[in-house]
Amino acid sequence: MKDSYGRVIDYLRISVTDLCNLRCLYCMPEKGVEKREHKDNLSVEEIEEIVSAAVDLGVTKVRVTGGEPLVRRGILEICRRIGAIPGVEKLCMTTNGVLLKKHAAQLFDAGVTRLNISLDTLDREKYSQLTRMGTLEDVLGGIDEAFRVGFSEIKINTVLMGGVNDDEIRDIAALTKDRNIHVRFIELMPIGECAQWGPERFISNERVLEELPALEEAGVAGVARIYRLPEHRGTVGLISPISSHFCPSCNRIRVTADGRLKPCLHSAEEINLRGLQGEELRHVMSEAIFGKPHRHHLDEAASSSLRHMNEIGG
Ligand code: SAM
Ligand code: SF4
Repeated sequence: MKDSYGRVIDYLRISVTDLCNLRCLYCMPEKGVEKREHKDNLSVEEIEEIVSAAVDLGVTKVRVTGGEPLVRRGILEICRRIGAIPGVEKLCMTTNGVLLKKHAAQLFDAGVTRLNISLDTLDREKYSQLTRMGTLEDVLGGIDEAFRVGFSEIKINTVLMGGVNDDEIRDIAALTKDRNIHVRFIELMPIGECAQWGPERFISNERVLEELPALEEAGVAGVARIYRLPEHRGTVGLISPISSHFCPSCNRIRVTADGRLKPCLHSAEEINLRGLQGEELRHVMSEAIFGKPHRHHLDEAASSSLRHMNEIGG
Protein backbone atom coordinates (compact mmCIF):
# COMPACT_ATOMS: atom_id res chain seq x y z
CA MET A 1 0.00 0.00 0.00
CA LYS A 2 1.01 3.61 -0.48
CA ASP A 3 1.15 6.33 2.14
CA SER A 4 -0.31 9.79 1.58
CA TYR A 5 2.96 10.90 -0.09
CA GLY A 6 2.88 8.05 -2.60
CA ARG A 7 5.63 6.00 -0.95
CA VAL A 8 5.11 2.25 -1.31
CA ILE A 9 5.29 0.66 2.15
CA ASP A 10 6.39 -2.95 1.78
CA TYR A 11 8.83 -3.42 4.67
CA LEU A 12 7.99 -4.17 8.31
CA ARG A 13 10.57 -4.13 11.10
CA ILE A 14 9.35 -5.84 14.23
CA SER A 15 11.18 -5.67 17.54
CA VAL A 16 10.71 -8.87 19.55
CA THR A 17 12.35 -7.68 22.79
CA ASP A 18 13.91 -4.52 24.19
CA LEU A 19 16.42 -6.54 26.20
CA CYS A 20 19.97 -7.05 25.05
CA ASN A 21 23.11 -8.95 25.98
CA LEU A 22 25.23 -5.88 25.11
CA ARG A 23 25.15 -2.26 26.27
CA CYS A 24 26.42 -0.31 23.27
CA LEU A 25 27.33 3.19 24.43
CA TYR A 26 25.09 4.95 21.92
CA CYS A 27 22.10 2.68 22.40
CA MET A 28 21.63 1.31 25.92
CA PRO A 29 22.07 2.71 29.41
CA GLU A 30 24.90 1.03 31.29
CA LYS A 31 22.58 -0.68 33.75
CA GLY A 32 20.37 -2.00 30.95
CA VAL A 33 16.62 -1.56 30.88
CA GLU A 34 14.01 -2.74 33.32
CA LYS A 35 12.76 -6.17 32.41
CA ARG A 36 9.11 -6.12 31.43
CA GLU A 37 6.80 -8.91 32.36
CA HIS A 38 6.61 -11.52 29.61
CA LYS A 39 2.94 -10.67 29.05
CA ASP A 40 3.86 -7.07 28.26
CA ASN A 41 5.67 -8.19 25.13
CA LEU A 42 3.82 -9.34 22.05
CA SER A 43 3.26 -13.09 22.11
CA VAL A 44 4.28 -15.35 19.24
CA GLU A 45 0.63 -15.44 18.13
CA GLU A 46 0.27 -11.65 18.24
CA ILE A 47 3.44 -11.22 16.20
CA GLU A 48 2.10 -13.68 13.64
CA GLU A 49 -1.23 -11.83 13.49
CA ILE A 50 0.42 -8.42 13.03
CA VAL A 51 2.79 -9.68 10.33
CA SER A 52 -0.13 -11.37 8.51
CA ALA A 53 -2.09 -8.11 8.57
CA ALA A 54 0.95 -6.21 7.28
CA VAL A 55 1.33 -8.74 4.45
CA ASP A 56 -2.34 -8.27 3.56
CA LEU A 57 -1.53 -4.55 3.25
CA GLY A 58 1.40 -5.16 0.89
CA VAL A 59 4.41 -5.93 3.07
CA THR A 60 6.77 -8.48 1.49
CA LYS A 61 9.89 -8.00 3.61
CA VAL A 62 9.99 -8.52 7.37
CA ARG A 63 12.91 -7.83 9.67
CA VAL A 64 13.08 -9.28 13.16
CA THR A 65 15.08 -7.02 15.44
CA GLY A 66 15.38 -6.01 19.09
CA GLY A 67 16.99 -5.27 21.58
CA GLU A 68 18.80 -8.41 20.70
CA PRO A 69 16.43 -10.84 18.98
CA LEU A 70 18.53 -13.86 19.91
CA VAL A 71 17.83 -13.34 23.62
CA ARG A 72 14.05 -13.48 23.08
CA ARG A 73 12.47 -16.66 24.34
CA GLY A 74 10.91 -18.57 21.44
CA ILE A 75 12.80 -16.67 18.75
CA LEU A 76 13.05 -19.72 16.48
CA GLU A 77 9.31 -20.30 16.65
CA ILE A 78 8.72 -16.61 15.88
CA CYS A 79 10.92 -16.89 12.79
CA ARG A 80 9.29 -20.14 11.70
CA ARG A 81 5.80 -18.66 11.99
CA ILE A 82 6.70 -15.45 10.13
CA GLY A 83 8.55 -17.39 7.43
CA ALA A 84 5.49 -19.59 6.87
CA ILE A 85 3.12 -16.66 6.19
CA PRO A 86 2.33 -16.67 2.45
CA GLY A 87 3.54 -13.40 0.96
CA VAL A 88 6.63 -13.00 3.17
CA GLU A 89 9.36 -13.05 0.53
CA LYS A 90 12.28 -11.97 2.70
CA LEU A 91 12.68 -12.73 6.38
CA CYS A 92 15.67 -10.86 7.75
CA MET A 93 17.18 -10.50 11.19
CA THR A 94 19.36 -7.77 12.65
CA THR A 95 21.56 -9.11 15.44
CA ASN A 96 24.71 -8.15 17.26
CA GLY A 97 25.98 -11.61 16.32
CA VAL A 98 27.27 -12.52 19.76
CA LEU A 99 25.04 -15.61 19.99
CA LEU A 100 25.09 -16.39 16.30
CA LYS A 101 27.61 -19.20 16.44
CA LYS A 102 25.16 -21.17 18.53
CA HIS A 103 22.02 -20.25 16.59
CA ALA A 104 23.02 -19.76 12.94
CA ALA A 105 22.00 -23.24 11.77
CA GLN A 106 18.66 -23.11 13.59
CA LEU A 107 17.88 -19.68 12.17
CA PHE A 108 18.65 -20.89 8.67
CA ASP A 109 16.39 -23.89 9.16
CA ALA A 110 13.67 -21.66 10.65
CA GLY A 111 13.49 -19.76 7.35
CA VAL A 112 15.56 -16.65 8.02
CA THR A 113 16.81 -15.61 4.60
CA ARG A 114 19.15 -12.75 5.47
CA LEU A 115 21.26 -11.62 8.39
CA ASN A 116 22.46 -8.12 9.26
CA ILE A 117 25.17 -8.16 11.88
CA SER A 118 26.06 -5.00 13.76
CA LEU A 119 29.79 -4.49 14.06
CA ASP A 120 31.28 -1.06 14.66
CA THR A 121 34.94 -1.96 15.11
CA LEU A 122 37.44 -4.71 14.33
CA ASP A 123 39.57 -3.80 17.33
CA ARG A 124 39.12 -6.21 20.25
CA GLU A 125 39.61 -3.64 22.99
CA LYS A 126 37.45 -1.04 21.31
CA TYR A 127 34.71 -3.58 20.75
CA SER A 128 34.60 -4.41 24.45
CA GLN A 129 34.55 -0.73 25.38
CA LEU A 130 31.87 0.22 22.85
CA THR A 131 29.57 -2.65 23.73
CA ARG A 132 30.56 -2.54 27.42
CA MET A 133 30.42 -6.35 27.59
CA GLY A 134 30.97 -7.95 24.19
CA THR A 135 33.79 -10.10 22.80
CA LEU A 136 34.77 -9.44 19.20
CA GLU A 137 35.71 -13.09 18.54
CA ASP A 138 32.13 -14.18 19.27
CA VAL A 139 30.83 -12.00 16.46
CA LEU A 140 33.55 -12.98 14.00
CA GLY A 141 32.90 -16.65 14.82
CA GLY A 142 29.18 -16.04 14.30
CA ILE A 143 29.81 -14.62 10.82
CA ASP A 144 31.92 -17.65 9.84
CA GLU A 145 29.29 -20.00 11.17
CA ALA A 146 26.49 -18.22 9.29
CA PHE A 147 28.32 -18.71 5.99
CA ARG A 148 29.12 -22.31 6.91
CA VAL A 149 25.48 -23.23 7.54
CA GLY A 150 24.30 -21.79 4.23
CA PHE A 151 23.62 -18.04 4.42
CA SER A 152 24.79 -16.84 1.03
CA GLU A 153 25.48 -13.26 2.05
CA ILE A 154 25.88 -11.24 5.22
CA LYS A 155 25.34 -7.54 5.77
CA ILE A 156 27.47 -5.76 8.34
CA ASN A 157 25.96 -2.61 9.90
CA THR A 158 28.59 -0.15 11.08
CA VAL A 159 27.54 3.03 12.87
CA LEU A 160 30.16 5.63 12.05
CA MET A 161 31.30 7.76 14.99
CA GLY A 162 33.85 10.56 14.80
CA GLY A 163 36.89 9.91 16.97
CA VAL A 164 35.70 6.36 17.67
CA ASN A 165 35.82 4.24 14.52
CA ASP A 166 36.39 6.65 11.63
CA ASP A 167 40.01 5.47 11.58
CA GLU A 168 38.75 1.98 10.66
CA ILE A 169 36.77 2.77 7.51
CA ARG A 170 39.33 1.05 5.25
CA ASP A 171 39.64 -2.04 7.42
CA ILE A 172 35.90 -2.46 7.75
CA ALA A 173 35.35 -1.92 4.00
CA ALA A 174 38.04 -4.55 3.37
CA LEU A 175 35.67 -7.17 4.82
CA THR A 176 33.98 -7.06 1.39
CA LYS A 177 37.10 -8.30 -0.41
CA ASP A 178 36.79 -12.07 -0.56
CA ARG A 179 33.42 -13.00 0.84
CA ASN A 180 29.85 -12.07 0.03
CA ILE A 181 29.87 -9.48 2.81
CA HIS A 182 28.11 -6.16 2.31
CA VAL A 183 29.11 -3.37 4.67
CA ARG A 184 26.60 -0.64 5.43
CA PHE A 185 27.99 2.49 7.06
CA ILE A 186 25.21 4.21 9.00
CA GLU A 187 25.32 7.77 10.29
CA LEU A 188 24.89 8.03 14.04
CA MET A 189 21.44 9.43 14.82
CA PRO A 190 20.83 11.63 17.91
CA ILE A 191 18.33 9.43 19.68
CA GLY A 192 18.25 8.05 23.22
CA GLU A 193 21.64 7.54 24.84
CA CYS A 194 23.63 9.53 22.28
CA ALA A 195 21.12 12.38 21.79
CA GLN A 196 23.32 14.75 23.79
CA TRP A 197 26.72 13.61 22.48
CA GLY A 198 29.01 16.30 21.10
CA PRO A 199 28.89 17.25 17.40
CA GLU A 200 32.31 15.69 16.76
CA ARG A 201 30.75 12.21 17.06
CA PHE A 202 28.12 12.86 14.37
CA ILE A 203 30.05 12.66 11.16
CA SER A 204 28.78 12.49 7.62
CA ASN A 205 29.06 9.35 5.53
CA GLU A 206 30.87 11.53 2.99
CA ARG A 207 33.89 10.65 5.10
CA VAL A 208 33.74 7.12 3.69
CA LEU A 209 33.91 8.49 0.13
CA GLU A 210 36.89 10.68 1.06
CA GLU A 211 38.68 7.78 2.71
CA LEU A 212 37.99 5.38 -0.17
CA PRO A 213 38.26 7.30 -3.47
CA ALA A 214 38.36 4.00 -5.36
CA LEU A 215 34.71 3.30 -4.53
CA GLU A 216 32.62 2.91 -7.67
CA GLU A 217 28.91 3.70 -7.68
CA ALA A 218 26.74 0.58 -7.90
CA GLY A 219 23.18 1.90 -7.57
CA VAL A 220 20.68 2.37 -4.81
CA ALA A 221 19.03 -0.23 -2.58
CA GLY A 222 16.20 1.07 -0.41
CA VAL A 223 17.65 3.86 1.71
CA ALA A 224 21.29 2.91 0.95
CA ARG A 225 23.60 4.27 -1.77
CA ILE A 226 25.69 1.34 -2.94
CA TYR A 227 29.36 1.32 -3.98
CA ARG A 228 31.96 -1.32 -4.70
CA LEU A 229 35.74 -1.38 -4.40
CA PRO A 230 37.45 -2.73 -7.53
CA GLU A 231 37.83 -6.52 -7.46
CA HIS A 232 35.93 -6.81 -4.22
CA ARG A 233 33.18 -9.38 -3.98
CA GLY A 234 30.83 -7.50 -1.67
CA THR A 235 29.57 -3.93 -1.64
CA VAL A 236 29.88 -0.87 0.58
CA GLY A 237 26.61 0.96 1.26
CA LEU A 238 26.00 4.35 2.80
CA ILE A 239 22.89 4.95 4.87
CA SER A 240 22.82 8.66 5.53
CA PRO A 241 19.75 9.72 7.49
CA ILE A 242 21.31 13.04 8.44
CA SER A 243 23.47 14.22 5.55
CA SER A 244 21.22 13.15 2.71
CA HIS A 245 17.76 12.79 4.20
CA PHE A 246 16.48 9.46 2.96
CA CYS A 247 12.83 10.03 3.93
CA PRO A 248 11.58 10.30 0.31
CA SER A 249 12.64 6.67 -0.26
CA CYS A 250 11.41 5.36 3.11
CA ASN A 251 9.40 2.17 2.57
CA ARG A 252 9.06 0.93 6.16
CA ILE A 253 6.96 0.80 9.29
CA ARG A 254 8.05 -0.45 12.70
CA VAL A 255 6.40 -2.34 15.53
CA THR A 256 7.85 -2.26 19.05
CA ALA A 257 8.09 -5.29 21.31
CA ASP A 258 5.10 -4.05 23.33
CA GLY A 259 2.96 -3.80 20.22
CA ARG A 260 3.08 -0.14 19.18
CA LEU A 261 3.21 0.69 15.51
CA LYS A 262 5.62 3.52 14.71
CA PRO A 263 4.99 4.98 11.25
CA CYS A 264 8.28 6.95 11.55
CA LEU A 265 11.39 6.08 13.57
CA HIS A 266 11.89 9.67 14.70
CA SER A 267 8.33 10.69 15.48
CA ALA A 268 6.68 10.36 18.90
CA GLU A 269 3.54 8.98 17.28
CA GLU A 270 2.67 5.40 18.20
CA ILE A 271 -0.43 3.34 17.58
CA ASN A 272 -1.31 0.54 19.96
CA LEU A 273 -2.01 -2.70 18.07
CA ARG A 274 -2.57 -4.91 21.08
CA GLY A 275 -5.96 -6.50 21.36
CA LEU A 276 -6.73 -5.90 17.69
CA GLN A 277 -7.36 -8.69 15.23
CA GLY A 278 -8.48 -9.39 11.68
CA GLU A 279 -10.24 -6.57 9.84
CA GLU A 280 -9.93 -4.13 12.74
CA LEU A 281 -6.16 -4.67 12.94
CA ARG A 282 -5.80 -4.20 9.18
CA HIS A 283 -7.87 -1.03 9.31
CA VAL A 284 -5.84 0.54 12.13
CA MET A 285 -2.56 -0.40 10.41
CA SER A 286 -3.64 0.98 7.06
CA GLU A 287 -4.71 4.28 8.65
CA ALA A 288 -1.32 4.49 10.37
CA ILE A 289 0.53 3.80 7.12
CA PHE A 290 -1.50 6.41 5.29
CA GLY A 291 -0.67 8.96 8.00
CA LYS A 292 3.09 8.27 7.91
CA PRO A 293 4.94 11.57 8.42
CA HIS A 294 6.61 13.19 5.44
CA ARG A 295 10.11 13.39 6.96
CA HIS A 296 12.13 13.49 10.15
CA HIS A 297 13.67 16.70 11.49
CA LEU A 298 17.04 15.45 12.72
CA ASP A 299 18.78 18.26 10.89
CA GLU A 300 17.01 20.73 13.21
CA ALA A 301 16.82 18.87 16.53
CA ALA A 302 17.29 15.50 18.21
CA SER A 303 14.82 12.73 17.45
CA SER A 304 11.26 13.28 18.70
CA SER A 305 10.93 9.57 19.39
CA LEU A 306 10.16 8.94 23.04
CA ARG A 307 11.94 5.61 22.86
CA HIS A 308 15.53 4.45 22.78
CA MET A 309 16.85 2.46 19.84
CA ASN A 310 16.84 -0.81 21.78
CA GLU A 311 13.04 -0.51 21.95
CA ILE A 312 12.60 0.27 18.28
CA GLY A 313 15.21 -1.93 16.66
CA GLY A 314 17.06 0.49 14.42
N1 SAM B 1 20.75 -5.78 18.86
C1 SAM B 1 20.66 -5.85 17.44
C2 SAM B 1 21.88 -5.24 16.78
O1 SAM B 1 22.62 -4.53 17.45
O2 SAM B 1 22.06 -5.51 15.61
C3 SAM B 1 19.40 -5.24 16.86
C4 SAM B 1 18.89 -3.96 17.47
S1 SAM B 1 19.94 -2.53 17.23
C5 SAM B 1 19.02 -1.27 18.03
C6 SAM B 1 19.72 -2.25 15.50
C7 SAM B 1 20.71 -1.32 14.85
O3 SAM B 1 20.49 0.00 15.32
C8 SAM B 1 22.17 -1.65 15.13
O4 SAM B 1 22.84 -1.82 13.90
C9 SAM B 1 22.66 -0.43 15.84
O5 SAM B 1 24.01 -0.16 15.57
C10 SAM B 1 21.74 0.65 15.32
N2 SAM B 1 21.67 1.82 16.16
C11 SAM B 1 21.40 1.89 17.48
N3 SAM B 1 21.43 3.17 17.92
C12 SAM B 1 21.72 3.94 16.83
C13 SAM B 1 21.88 5.35 16.62
N4 SAM B 1 21.76 6.22 17.59
N5 SAM B 1 22.16 5.77 15.36
C14 SAM B 1 22.30 4.88 14.34
N6 SAM B 1 22.15 3.56 14.48
C15 SAM B 1 21.87 3.08 15.70
FE1 SF4 C 1 22.05 -4.12 22.03
FE2 SF4 C 1 21.90 -3.71 19.42
FE3 SF4 C 1 21.56 -1.68 21.14
FE4 SF4 C 1 23.96 -2.72 20.90
S1 SF4 C 1 22.82 -1.68 19.27
S2 SF4 C 1 22.92 -2.27 22.83
S3 SF4 C 1 23.53 -4.81 20.49
S4 SF4 C 1 20.24 -3.41 20.92
